[in-house]
Amino acid sequence: VRYKEGQGWHNPTIEARAPIALDPAAAVLHYAQEIFEGMKAYRAADGGVVMFRPDANARRFRQSAERMAMAEVPDVLFLEAVRELVRVDRDWIPSGESASLYLRPFMIASEAFLGVKPSSEYLFIVIASPVGAYFSGGAVSVWVSEDYTRAAPGGTGAAKCGGNYAASLLAQREAKAQNCDQVLFLDAAEHRWIEEMGGMNIFFVMKDGTLVTPPLGGTILPGITRDALLTLARDKGLTVREERYSIEQCYEDAASGRLVEAFACGTAAVVTSIGRFRGHRGEIVIGAGNGADPVTEGLRDALIGIQRGQRPDPYGWVQRVD
Ligand code: PMP
Repeated sequence: VRYKEGQGWHNPTIEARAPIALDPAAAVLHYAQEIFEGMKAYRAADGGVVMFRPDANARRFRQSAERMAMAEVPDVLFLEAVRELVRVDRDWIPSGESASLYLRPFMIASEAFLGVKPSSEYLFIVIASPVGAYFSGGAVSVWVSEDYTRAAPGGTGAAKCGGNYAASLLAQREAKAQNCDQVLFLDAAEHRWIEEMGGMNIFFVMKDGTLVTPPLGGTILPGITRDALLTLARDKGLTVREERYSIEQCYEDAASGRLVEAFACGTAAVVTSIGRFRGHRGEIVIGAGNGADPVTEGLRDALIGIQRGQRPDPYGWVQRVD
């Protein structure tokens, strides 16, 4: 779908995947005015096709657009575009526990000019691709990035814009070089408060059953999985605290046995146990270190059960695509 100031959104089309034409001076290529979303369509237990909280992705897309001074994509347009593509590609939606059709709605500034200013023309596109599980099971290892931060107060950390991910690639490469699966970012000001991972939010489980996750505060992506788990955990009767948690405290609590589980969560990772943290202060194993984490597993089962239509959905999170 194209946008032009004065004309609004127009010319929606569904096409076979092919390269798109852009003027070499298109604003996105120079100033990275780009936002995106990540969501999945699942094959439900009864064979139907379902999506998990697509309205929340539409809302976050709107908020990202606002932060990046881009045109607003109305929720109805966002949702209709995604649903239409899912309908066209429905035969490609795999069945099976961890398989799904990954959807990537994104918007780029397409106006051609070289001055620094918001574009007056945009392209909103959705692409789709079948995917399997993001991690292969067990627990992931996490590299604590002390040299690079992902987001600063007043910056774009709460928006899902490409620039955030470009800025995190070097840290991600460092994590891989350290034999870790993922990178963990600390806050920009003090380099000690745990924020989030490269593409996931993070939770900690204390020995007394309390769950701790960093508060959003403008520098963390407001994950839809994070939000759903906060609700599921509270409804399971767990105490959940959104509060700052430092990396020193994390190491100390893991050593003393107060911290018993940690997990990453997101659309791609769903809920994945963290087995160990590694960084300049050494390595620390969380719990058994092998992913046998009862609270994490309980939350994962509850979430997947709802997403796959195997458990009741009292929250109205699951939407059918007919
Ligand atoms: N943080 C970052 C940086 C991410 O890229 C993602 C994935 N969108 C998440 C957290 C998790 O968000 P969600 O649960 O909405 O997928």
